[in-house]
Amino acid sequence: MSKYKFVLDDSRIPKAWYNIAPDMPVAAEPVLNPQTLEPVTPDFLSVLFPMNIIKQEISQERYIEIPEPVREIYKLWRPTPMFRAHRLEKFLDTPAHIYYKHEGVSPVGSHKPNTAVAQAFYNKEAGTKALTTETGAGQWGSALSMSAGFFDLAVEVYMVKVSYNQKPYRRMVIQNYGGEVYASPTNRTEYGRSVLAQFPDSPGTLGIAISEAVEVAAKSGGTKKYSLGSVLNHVMTHQSVIGLEALEQMEMADEYPDIVIACAGGGSNFAGLAFPFLRENFTNGMNTRIIAVEPASCPTMTRGKYAFDYGDTAAMAPVVKMHTLGHTFVPPGIHAGGLRYHGMSASVSALVENGDVEAVAVKQLATFEAAVQFARVEGIIPAPESAHAIRAAMDQALICKETGEEKVIVFNLSGHGHFDMAAYDAYHAGKLQDYVHPTEKIEEAMSHLPKIG
Ligand SMILES: *Cc1c(COP(=O)(O)O)cnc(C)c1O
Repeated sequence: MSKYKFVLDDSRIPKAWYNIAPDMPVAAEPVLNPQTLEPVTPDFLSVLFPMNIIKQEISQERYIEIPEPVREIYKLWRPTPMFRAHRLEKFLDTPAHIYYKHEGVSPVGSHKPNTAVAQAFYNKEAGTKALTTETGAGQWGSALSMSAGFFDLAVEVYMVKVSYNQKPYRRMVIQNYGGEVYASPTNRTEYGRSVLAQFPDSPGTLGIAISEAVEVAAKSGGTKKYSLGSVLNHVMTHQSVIGLEALEQMEMADEYPDIVIACAGGGSNFAGLAFPFLRENFTNGMNTRIIAVEPASCPTMTRGKYAFDYGDTAAMAPVVKMHTLGHTFVPPGIHAGGLRYHGMSASVSALVENGDVEAVAVKQLATFEAAVQFARVEGIIPAPESAHAIRAAMDQALICKETGEEKVIVFNLSGHGHFDMAAYDAYHAGKLQDYVHPTEKIEEAMSHLPKIG
C-alpha cells in the first residue's frame, strides 16, 4: 500500500451527507426576515430557494441520502485523493505527519462543485428554470455553471466587477459552460442601479453581487431561484463528503489526526473537512483540535462580532447570527486572496463561540510564502485561499519541530491556483502587502448591524 497517496474507489463515495445540526452542542439561532427581523417563514425563503433545499436547510436528520444522479456526477472526480506531504515534512524538518485532502482535482479546480451539483439537482427536481448567483473570484460561478449545465438549467452570474476585469479567464470558464456573466454592480437591477448612481466607479463587492442575484430571483415570479455557494447549512452538509472520505483515508493510512485545519471564507470547505471529525469529537470520544484559518485583512471570526447581521449589503438577504465584520464591509484592494466575505456560516460561528473550533488569522505575505514553498516541494500550486490552511499547517508542524512531538496534521487543499497566477506574480514582484483590518473600521461597521429586540 502506498504511503504517499490514499485513494478510494468510486464505491467509497459516501452514500449520505453528514448534517451536524443534531450533534451541535449549542442550539442554532433562528434565521430572521430582513424586513421584519422576525424568524423567517418557509414562505419567505421559498421566494429564493426551492422547498427541497429549504427542508435540508432546517433538517435535524443526521444523515441525508445523496441522490444517485448526484453521486454519478461526483464520480467524475470523487473520491478525491489524500496525500501525505512527505517532502514538505522533510523541508520543514518536522517530526509531524502532514496530510492534505486535494479538492483541487475537481473539473473547476475547487471543492465548490460538491454543493453546486447537489443544488442544481434539487432545483431541477423542483421545477426551477434558471439559477441566479454571485461570484467573487469566479470559482463559485464556474462550479454552478458547470453543474447547472448538467441539469439543463440556465444561470445568471453576478460577478464582482473588479474580478470580472482582473480575472478574465474565470469569466470565460463560466461562459464556456453556458453561464451568463454580468459585472456587478450592473444596471440590470434596482439595487445595482442605485449603487451606480451613487458610485459610478464602484469595483463591486460580494455583498452587492449577492443583493443583485437575490433581487433578480425574488422578482422572477418563481421561475428563477437563487443559489449560494457557502454560508448556509445545506451547503455545509453537501461539503461533508470531503471529511467523510478523509476519515476513511486516515484509516487507510493507519493514523488519526491530532489537528484538522482548513481556511474559512463562508465556511464551506472548512465545514466539509472538519464536521465529520467534530462528529467523532462529539459522539466518539475523540479529541482532535479543529482550526479555521482566515486572513488578517478580513478577520471575521477572530475580530468580528458574534451578532445578527444581513447576509448582503442591501439588507435583502436573511439575517443570521454569525461572526461578522458588518454587511457594509469593503475588503481592501491590495489583498489578492479570496476569503473576503463579511460574514460566516452560522454553525461554524456557533462552534467557534462555543470553543469547539479554534480560529486563527494569518497575514498575506506569510501565506504566499507558504504557498510558494508548498508548490516547490509538493508540486501543486495552491489557490491563495487554500494557502491560508497551508500556512497554519506549516506553523503547527514547526511547533512540533520545537517540541519534538509527532503530531498528525490534516489540512484541506480546497483548490488549485492556476487561475490565480496574477496574484503570485504580484507577490514575486513585491507588490503585495500585509494589511490588518483597522479596529476603527470594525467599530464603525458594527453601528450598522440590525437592532434585534
Ligand atoms: C470559495 C473558496 C474558498 C472559500 O469558501 P469557503 O466556503 O469558506 O470554503 C476557499 N478555497 C477555495 C479554493 C475556494 O474556491
